[in-house]
Amino acid sequence: MAINETWLRAQEEGKAPVIPGYRLRHLPRPRRAPRHPRPRQRRRGRVLRPSTWTEKFPEAGGANQSPVDIDTSAARTGHNAPPLLWRYSVNHTRSILNPGYCWRVDENGYDSELRGGPLGDDVYKLQQWHCHWGAVNGEGSEHTVDGRPFSGELHLVHWNTSKYNSFEEAAGQYDGLAVLGVLLEVGDKHEELDKVVRLLPYITHKGDKVTMIEPVDPAKLLPGKIAYWTYPGSLTTPPCTESVTWILFKTPVQVSADQLATMRKLRCGEATAMEAMELLHNYRPTLPLGNRDLRDYTHGN
Ligand SMILES: [Zn+2]
Repeated sequence: MAINETWLRAQEEGKAPVIPGYRLRHLPRPRRAPRHPRPRQRRRGRVLRPSTWTEKFPEAGGANQSPVDIDTSAARTGHNAPPLLWRYSVNHTRSILNPGYCWRVDENGYDSELRGGPLGDDVYKLQQWHCHWGAVNGEGSEHTVDGRPFSGELHLVHWNTSKYNSFEEAAGQYDGLAVLGVLLEVGDKHEELDKVVRLLPYITHKGDKVTMIEPVDPAKLLPGKIAYWTYPGSLTTPPCTESVTWILFKTPVQVSADQLATMRKLRCGEATAMEAMELLHNYRPTLPLGNRDLRDYTHGN
């Protein structure tokens, strides 16, 4: 999921490495080679394990990391939780960009609200949403359910505006972020998500960014049934800060095989790079739940 913005900016400016751990496909060299070719960095199909993240981001080795496998039999039923409520703005300018490891739609907190459920009285705002996927259908979600992976996972990243002044500040606090996770399965084309997918050919390379003209309703990305699991966890990309209240919807939503195939065509390198590789998958394997409290709000609303 979510990315610390400071780290993200550093990466976009070329001061931080591409996230290791994702499976990449080597593509042919561009016809016109740059004058000063970059050294070859990765071999075909090489997989750099997320376990290497701990070398630069020690928190990635913590006890409260995400994603996890949801053992449905181990989840405690949540009682007396207030309803989980959200409100999003449809008509405002959004940008969609390729940070080198996914596609991401930036909302920047514009007129939105998420509260209730496990979030108590605090009000969270939507900062950005992005997606994880796999090299083939049937894998790609970050969370798994009773050991079963899904074909992808959307993350809607919110920050706590009741306690903190900015996304950056909240991202470092244990109650700073709340992420809605939506499992994706292959089926019908998702019309709302297609407003994003149609733009992906315009952000093929790392650093590419376009403005979305069409109104998008983030609420339409969520399943109709409000039943979810929740637990305290972390960002699933470096720096893997343990600042996330995870809310994973039980009901998957459908996307088409073509939509997933279009996502896999994004590349992790810049257009000028000697080697541009497709992002075949970009999910982190599950980590132990440990002693954390996993709750089941089947009748949350
Ligand atoms: Zn994510």
